[in-house]
Amino acid sequence: MNRGSFMSSIKYRVNHNPIMYDHLTKMYQVGRKVFRSYSDAKANQWQCDKCNRAFSSFKELKVHKNDNHAY
Ligand SMILES: [Zn+2]
Repeated sequence: MNRGSFMSSIKYRVNHNPIMYDHLTKMYQVGRKVFRSYSDAKANQWQCDKCNRAFSSFKELKVHKNDNHAY
């Protein structure tokens, strides 16, 4: 593994929230947010660490970061 992919794997972990199902409330939890449907949870599993906006895919998050938080 080269240094570039090592750094991007850290970024992956920082921005990704796993979807957890709560059997008691029958809701899906993503980070601190709770959703009724799996598709809603899925659409919010990628979160920007700079402005907390949520996205459905890593690709969308990357585009957002390039557009809004270009380094
Ligand atoms: Zn952002």
